[in-house]
Amino acid sequence: MMPLFFFLIWGSKTKPAVRGAFEYLCKNCGHKTVHAITSVKRYFTFFFIPIFAVSHKLFMNCNACGYTLEFKDEAREKMLEKLDKIDEKKEKNEK
Ligand SMILES: [Zn+2]
Repeated sequence: MMPLFFFLIWGSKTKPAVRGAFEYLCKNCGHKTVHAITSVKRYFTFFFIPIFAVSHKLFMNCNACGYTLEFKDEAREKMLEKLDKIDEKKEKNEK
């Protein structure tokens, strides 16, 4: 029974969240349209409580054709920086 017991306590959970939307030229359909930026974090959970993120993926989704592109390496870092700056501005405006 031990392996099942551990399986129930330790786990992982994904949390998708829309982080922003920017106008880009789509590589797939060629339309200059709004692309939603979605971050998908996978959390390590203990007793179903997320403890820390084990992976963080960033995707861009074309609103015209649905084309999805994953940000990787340097592009991912740059986009995360951009999103953090936008979040900081939002927080300042709210205060
Ligand atoms: Zn497109």
